[in-house]
Amino acid sequence: MNFNGFSFDTAVQNALSELDNNGRIPHAIIIECENKDTALSAAKYLAMYTVCTSREKPCGTCLNCQKASLMSHPDISYAYPEKKSKTYSIEQIRSIAKDAYILPNEANAKVYIFEEADNRLSVIAQNSFLKLLEEPPQNVHFILLCENAQNLLVTILSRCTVVRLKQKAKISEKSLENAQKIVNGILSSREYDLLLALNVLSDKQGADETLSAVRTLLRDGLAVSVGGSTLLDGTLGKNLAARFTKGQIIQMIELTQSSAIKIKQNININLLTTWLCGEYRRISWQR
Ligand SMILES: [Zn+2]
Repeated sequence: MNFNGFSFDTAVQNALSELDNNGRIPHAIIIECENKDTALSAAKYLAMYTVCTSREKPCGTCLNCQKASLMSHPDISYAYPEKKSKTYSIEQIRSIAKDAYILPNEANAKVYIFEEADNRLSVIAQNSFLKLLEEPPQNVHFILLCENAQNLLVTILSRCTVVRLKQKAKISEKSLENAQKIVNGILSSREYDLLLALNVLSDKQGADETLSAVRTLLRDGLAVSVGGSTLLDGTLGKNLAARFTKGQIIQMIELTQSSAIKIKQNININLLTTWLCGEYRRISWQR
C-alpha cells in the first residue's frame, strides 16, 4: 500500500496495511473510529486502493484515483439515508443489493461505503444486509464506518473484518459497576433484581457505555464457555457460562445491542427497561 501523499499517521497506516492481502482487501470491512473524518478518509483511501490500476496502489494520480478522490467514481458508492430519515430504509438496502450484482463500470471492483453504520443501520436493515454479506457478489467491497462496532449485530460483526483506528476510550468504573449489576440481575432468579438494576439506564448519557459494558460481560460468558479468555470479569463470565447455553448468551448480546440502538432512537426509557427485563428473562427460561 502506498501512503505517499496521504496524511495518515503511522498507527492508521499500520492498521490499514493489515487489511492488504496480495493487493486485495476483504469484501466486508468495519472501520471503527471515534473520529468520523479519519474514518471517512480511511474508507476513501481503501476505495481508491481498490479501483487504482497502477502498480503502486493507490497512486493518487491515475484516472480511477482522481475520480475516487473527487467522490465521483461510478464504482464507489456512498450510501446516505433518504431525505429526512436518519436511518437506511429496507428498500435502500435491497436496491444496494441489486446494484451490487451489476458489474463495475470503469474499475475491476465496486465499493459501497456506509458512514455512521452503527446509527444508520437499524436491526431490520442489518438483518436484510446480512444476506448480502453471506453471499457477497464477486469483486464487491462493503466498508462500514462506525464509532462503536459493538453496536452492530454479532452476526454482522462475525462476517466483517474489523479495523480499529485509535485506541477506544476505556469503560469507566461507574459504567462497569452498573453493567455488573445488570448482569447479576440477569443471573438472579428474582425479576425485581433485574428491573432494579436496569434503572441505571435512565441516565441516557451513561446508558450507551453501560450497555456496551453489559455486552462485553456477556461476551466474557461466551468466552468462558468456549475456553477463551475474559476481558472484564472472569467470575461473572464463569457464572454466565454455567447458567446459560452459548445460544442463550448470543441472544442476550444481540438483545443488548438492539436496545442500545433503541435508546439512540429516543425510545421511552421506562418502556425500554420493562421490555428489556422481560426479554432477558424470556431468553433465560428457554430450553
Ligand atoms: Zn491510481
